[in-house]
Amino acid sequence: MTKQKLTTPDMTTQEKRRIYQARYKASEKGKEKYRDLNKQWIDSNRERYNEAKSEYRFKLKLAAITHYSNGSMSCAHCGYTGNLDALCLDHINDDGKAHRLELGCGSRGMSSGTTMYERLKALGWLPGLQVLCANCNTIKEVTRKRGRDCEEMMATVKDKIRWRKEPGTT
Ligand SMILES: [Zn+2]
Repeated sequence: MTKQKLTTPDMTTQEKRRIYQARYKASEKGKEKYRDLNKQWIDSNRERYNEAKSEYRFKLKLAAITHYSNGSMSCAHCGYTGNLDALCLDHINDDGKAHRLELGCGSRGMSSGTTMYERLKALGWLPGLQVLCANCNTIKEVTRKRGRDCEEMMATVKDKIRWRKEPGTT
């Protein structure tokens, strides 16, 4: 295999250096070196790193919520608005699990949301999602899993509650 020449004589030293540096960065050895350097920087700038990471996540979520709520930043079901931390993305047709797998995102943990926002953003905001508040999202999720909504459950169990004893009885 012949080694392809990456530079041309008319390039400046700076341009040549940049090209060789990029090649080194992409090599196994270079990747390892930069991974170590990166880790070192993170270790000695922990606070700055954590702040920057939170801000990155927040900005990404802000972009996602803004897009999927058409700029209203509110719950598609009840209209709640006001706190981004209480808003989330919901798969309208409950195909979230398949969708997350398709996007290569985990289903749990802090970072799965961020990864999903990253993938969605990279793909130009795929359709099929909406913004819900935490309450509406929980209610939708529980109802889907159980197959019956809260009202139906109330009506079903209200005459079946037998464990409750009146105070003073044994
Ligand atoms: Zn809501």
